Amino acid sequence: METKEFKAESKRLLEMMINSIYTHKEIFLRELISNASDAMDKLYFKSLTDTSVGMKREEFRILITPDSKARTLTIADNGIGMTAEELEANLGTIAKSGSLSFKKDNELGEDVNIIGQFGVGFYSAFMVASAVTVTSKAYGANKAYRWASSGTDGYTMEECEKETAGTEIVLQLKENADEEDYDKYTQEYELKNLVKKYSDYIRYPIQMEMDKYEYDEEKKESVPHRELTTLNSMVPIWKKNKSELKAEDYQTFYKDTYYDYETPLAYIHAKNEGTATYNALLFIPAKAPFDYYSKEFEKGLTLYSSGVMIMEKCADLLPDYFSFVRGLVDSEDLSLNISREMLQHDRQLKIIAKNIEKSIKNELTKMRDNRREDYEKFFQAFGLQLKFGVYQSYGMNKDALKDLLMFTSSFENKLVTLAEYVSRMKEDQKFIYYASGDSVARLEMLPQTEMVREKGYEILYLTDNVDEFAIKMLMEYDSKQFKSVTAGDLDLGTEEEKEEIKKTAEDSKDMFAFMKETLGDKITEVRVSSRLKTHPVCITSEGEISVEMEKILNEMPQTGANGEKVEAKKVLELNAAHPVFEKLKTLYASDKDKLAAYTKLLYSQALLIEGVNLENPSEFSSLMADLMANA
Ligand code: ADP
Repeated sequence: METKEFKAESKRLLEMMINSIYTHKEIFLRELISNASDAMDKLYFKSLTDTSVGMKREEFRILITPDSKARTLTIADNGIGMTAEELEANLGTIAKSGSLSFKKDNELGEDVNIIGQFGVGFYSAFMVASAVTVTSKAYGANKAYRWASSGTDGYTMEECEKETAGTEIVLQLKENADEEDYDKYTQEYELKNLVKKYSDYIRYPIQMEMDKYEYDEEKKESVPHRELTTLNSMVPIWKKNKSELKAEDYQTFYKDTYYDYETPLAYIHAKNEGTATYNALLFIPAKAPFDYYSKEFEKGLTLYSSGVMIMEKCADLLPDYFSFVRGLVDSEDLSLNISREMLQHDRQLKIIAKNIEKSIKNELTKMRDNRREDYEKFFQAFGLQLKFGVYQSYGMNKDALKDLLMFTSSFENKLVTLAEYVSRMKEDQKFIYYASGDSVARLEMLPQTEMVREKGYEILYLTDNVDEFAIKMLMEYDSKQFKSVTAGDLDLGTEEEKEEIKKTAEDSKDMFAFMKETLGDKITEVRVSSRLKTHPVCITSEGEISVEMEKILNEMPQTGANGEKVEAKKVLELNAAHPVFEKLKTLYASDKDKLAAYTKLLYSQALLIEGVNLENPSEFSSLMADLMANA
């Protein structure tokens, strides 16, 4: 018989499986059972519209048959089966597995991630088997085929006999080795446990012939007899009574279903009757999946209609800002054969989605109030998404989300909610102050914050790009306006101080005009600062766009290099109490060239403090060098 070669990618995955040191090799059984269950789903679906299938729901089953003498394990299903072409296409190549392209440079042995994160399907059989034979007959076909492979050399295909539709997979188990005992996969007890552990909610019976003990009156002892036993409980967890379930049951379900080894931060088991009847099981993960903040990520809940899955990821059930939620909804109100397009307009679905949104918000609120540490963990992972949610759709959802937000505070560098901030505002404090920049460390050193701190006011440090945009969208919280410490008038000083500043400004009017002239369009104004205490200079902004926003917007592809530059209206603020200010005044009277040079220096310094790149760093450097040489 001709041996055919595997496609290159398949060969790599296969190699990985054969040489796997993965400690949970046992997952191969889960993978094969899932495939079998999928195949039965397909035939069952077909039977709903095609009466000639002639199979009833309760006739579908998966049969597991171990043979300890031959050291084989057989997994058989009576699902839709595969044609010769499908056998080749599905088992000879990995068509859609993203696993390999994701971890191209994975070295053999370093396979924990790939297996843990994706589940690798059929090929996982090679973690425990030295040879695999797949006999399959597609539903409606006359002929059956056998696919066989003992590893990377390739596979063979031949026609064979099989009476009914379905697939039978025979694993020839590997020889036992020091690190792994493969015999255990022929032990009934072990297999039963594995099915319970991984495949308990498979909706078809998973059966195995096992010893059943019965008391023999004559022999006066329990004697075994062989009996076909169903190993899984089949009832999906979400259909069970909440009182029957422990937190652990939900956690195990979550981990097995979503291949996440971390315990979820919260779960919601909702049972609803009334305008919409449904069961929902929702989870809030502890960590964002690696692709969460990428275009590739697909949100959605699995949708079931009376226990039968009708859509893997129903996006309409989750608003974007809660896209991190994983879980499922099971509703008898939805028809099995509903199409994607119809679903979008389904009234029931909309009601369910609204309810679910409420449940999620309640759960998060509860976590925020009662489990602060967990909430902070949640916010580290998904806070960004909530902030996007505030900003998107012109702030349509800001009111729903504002109380879920947290920002780092200048008080102890801890995350605070807006309510907490407002509750401890000083009596004379009018605004909610914030500073925005690359990092907390940087913001702490920002000269513009000096006065605000001196007053004992708390400052929110905004370090994510979206933060300031979200804040601008919120505009206010609890009737308190937000105010950037680096923008506009902070309105901090006493009447006396304000008067003083006004006077200095008046006296220095001409000098400021000269300095503004020197810097040209780079700034809109030179001004006496009311926010600086020890630093001589800073940049602030006037109007809608802050210096930080300018930086962010110009780094974005659509505005940045290809499009128009966005510009903040910058103001150069000088500290009149700083010795440098006196120096400037002297120079204005005696040496305007030097004043011009100092103006440029001060402007560059202010930009550097702000974390903005200098347009002309070498000019800055030579001005500095001149200054040193003449000092
Ligand atoms: P996945 O299940 O992720 O698609 P697998 O490698 O496990 O990847 O399986 C590849 C394909 O082979 C499946 O999508 C399915 O079409 C087919 N297949 C696997 N096992 C069976 C089976 N028992 N019955 C019918 N088709 C199967």
